[in-house]
Amino acid sequence: MTDPTKVPLLLTPGPLTTSETTKRAMLRDWGSRDGRFVEMNARIRSRLVELANGGDRFVAIPLQGSGTFAVEAMLGTMLPKDGRILLAINGAYGHRMARIVEMLGRSAVEYETAEDTPIDAGEIGRRLDADPTITHVAVVQCETTSGVLNPVAAIAGEVARRGRRLLIDAMSAFGALPLDLARVACDAVAASSNKCLEGVPGMGFVIARREAMAECEGNAHALSLDLFDQWRFMERAGQWRFTPPTHVIAAFDQALTEHAAEGGVEGRGNRYRENCRILVDGMRAMGFETLLPDALQAPIIVTFHMPSDPSFAFQAFYDRLRERGFVIYPGKLTVADSFRIGCIGRLMPSDMQDALAAIAATLAEMGVTNCGPLPVARRAVG
Ligand SMILES: *Cc1c(COP(=O)(O)O)cnc(C)c1O
Repeated sequence: MTDPTKVPLLLTPGPLTTSETTKRAMLRDWGSRDGRFVEMNARIRSRLVELANGGDRFVAIPLQGSGTFAVEAMLGTMLPKDGRILLAINGAYGHRMARIVEMLGRSAVEYETAEDTPIDAGEIGRRLDADPTITHVAVVQCETTSGVLNPVAAIAGEVARRGRRLLIDAMSAFGALPLDLARVACDAVAASSNKCLEGVPGMGFVIARREAMAECEGNAHALSLDLFDQWRFMERAGQWRFTPPTHVIAAFDQALTEHAAEGGVEGRGNRYRENCRILVDGMRAMGFETLLPDALQAPIIVTFHMPSDPSFAFQAFYDRLRERGFVIYPGKLTVADSFRIGCIGRLMPSDMQDALAAIAATLAEMGVTNCGPLPVARRAVG
């Protein structure tokens, strides 16, 4: 990148590149009791429920903080102190939920699959049959660690059929991949402002089944993460319990308007699918291999094996791409040496083409000719 003031595009899992108009929506201050600000909050909350087709049965409860705050609030508020949760894990975000539940001191069991393997809905059913004391199940819709898509609808069916409750971390999928709450039975879905909805970071939200949330008084372990309290206060006062992230909310309202203008979940998903297709095709044409087969790949973030060419060094590759205006992401896998490139945020198919051209130029500069990974038996693990 020749112009040092030019801001690079973020090909990462979040925070993401946002539109100019979303950034501009932050250029004014709001009093938290301002009637128009109160209206804005109500509008955002109803739009979020609509996006998931939650109808009157579901309610959106926003929360200050990053996505993890919303996940922690969901688990702490909705899992009763005497509950027991089955955690479906196939990556870092599943492990993060396990850590949260451990810190909450709630009873948990884990079902783990490899990072390149989706959670098996049938296996969830078998584990619930084998342990009738399990009250809740938690799963990540798109495990951002690898980019793998988990079958949440099938899992929801297994859980509901046995009268247990499901909590979903839909963080990196919400707004781009469908989640129809009229058909997917669950108690709650957590996501945030700064992933597929293309807002700026600073708030998460939980879309909760009203009847389930109504039972949650007194469950929470922490005042600021008590979603029941946050909900009741918002319903009563129309305002946030504690200082709202006003600028983030104003930007989010604009981002949601742009999401609707793009055709909602379907339109947003279509652009990301096109971004992902261009990226994967272009990288494969250069010789890179994806971790996942196409059938398991969500159009959110793609994991590539590290090239085996001795001229390739990830940090140099990263730095040179950054100079050319593109920020990529290191791998987070334990199963293979890898790096990741995101397809989400305000990125157009032409941006993906530009990124591929920058990658090709960088590889040429580095003298990398073989982008294929090491043979499986010799891949670094750990
Ligand atoms: C991004 C993400 C989160 C939340 O991460 P924060 O850094 O707290 O915003 C949680 N789960 C998944 C699957 C994610 O992709």
